[in-house]
Amino acid sequence: MEIIHDRRKVYDIDRKPCLGCGDCGYAIRPVVGRYLTCPVKEAMEDEGFELYFSRGRMNVLKSILEGQIPLSRELAEWVYQCSVCGNCTEVCHMSQNEYITLPTCNWIDHVKVWDALRKDLVEAGFAPLERHSDLVEYMNDDKMRNPYGEDIDEKFDWIKEFPEIKEKGELMFFGGCSIPLRQVETLKNMMKILKAAGKEIAMTKDEWCCGSIAIRIGDEKSLTETIKHNIEEFKERGAKTLFTACAGCYRTWKKDYPELLGEKLPFEVKHITEIIIELLNNNQIPFKKEEGEKVKVTYHDPCHLGRHMNLYDIPREVITNIPGIELIEMKRNRNNAWCCGAGGGVKSQFPELAVKISKERIREAVDSSAQILTTSCPFCINNLNNAYEEMDTMVKEKIKVVDIIDFIASKI
Ligand code: SF4
Ligand code: SF4
Repeated sequence: MEIIHDRRKVYDIDRKPCLGCGDCGYAIRPVVGRYLTCPVKEAMEDEGFELYFSRGRMNVLKSILEGQIPLSRELAEWVYQCSVCGNCTEVCHMSQNEYITLPTCNWIDHVKVWDALRKDLVEAGFAPLERHSDLVEYMNDDKMRNPYGEDIDEKFDWIKEFPEIKEKGELMFFGGCSIPLRQVETLKNMMKILKAAGKEIAMTKDEWCCGSIAIRIGDEKSLTETIKHNIEEFKERGAKTLFTACAGCYRTWKKDYPELLGEKLPFEVKHITEIIIELLNNNQIPFKKEEGEKVKVTYHDPCHLGRHMNLYDIPREVITNIPGIELIEMKRNRNNAWCCGAGGGVKSQFPELAVKISKERIREAVDSSAQILTTSCPFCINNLNNAYEEMDTMVKEKIKVVDIIDFIASKI
């Protein structure tokens, strides 16, 4: 209980209480594009769903703080069945209509609360859960430095094909682990785009996993060495801008590192779409001539880019700049986007839950009449693809899941 008391400031449940309105579980407001809120609640409908969305979670938290429910492994199993997508925060903060203002809603920062509870569980020894524990161990192993448990050299293998990548420079790419180890063709396509645009980049073969997984599961203490190493590595190589093609790495570098360090980074952090939009604005990407009917494309907002980092417009601007494309929105988009279900450690520990949530997102994309569902996050791509593989032929005939980088590369 002592640990929880220390974090009372984050929970702040006495001064900033949940009102129990239930908007985070049931509210449907088509006028603002909201059709249900919590992906986990919807996916767990047969298993006591009140517990799986924010209102139920807040009630359990209150009972923990009042000493009625002890921290335990069983509790941890439930806590981690949340993708920390932040949709409950959006809805809770938007609960009031213009005539009825419930200012208390604005006080809860749900993601921070869920993060704090995870930290408590780790510090109390009830977490990480099994699979999460493995990932953090691999990530901190000098022979791996990636959560996939693969040899440290594996993720730099693709660089051999690109001798033009420099070892030092002002614009440096942070490859992360998921794309080089699970989606390497996307990196080759990224190089195709950058090469066509005449853009030079540098990379280091001594970057370590950004540590996103450790932060998301509440084990950020294991990251001290990683953060120091990564920042020094890029600083020494002269980085003025670091960019990444992974939404998780982007959030970790741009938001978590400075917050954990309590200071600004010595360079700017950008997402690949922010690099690409600059190239597009300067007409540096030589697209093929497109003829015929426009292809309908819809964009899935990764939580780590959208709700967590407010990067909604730039990926859309990138898409609308591709010739022969019509961007259409899914029913739930931008801050109301339906999470793919992979985040917060759900994919690694509860893969079936993650895939179930992704199927719903693919169905929504099909309903939008899009032919291409694109996004810019390797976790989303992987989870959406896993769901896609399990869906029937009718779905597969209607839509394809494509990373935004692969899609652009196919047009040049
Ligand atoms: S963060 Fe997302 S998954 Fe977790 S309770 Fe909120 S809406 Fe549900
Ligand atoms: S929307 Fe906010 S105030 Fe209402 S039940 Fe959910 S967490 Fe509580």
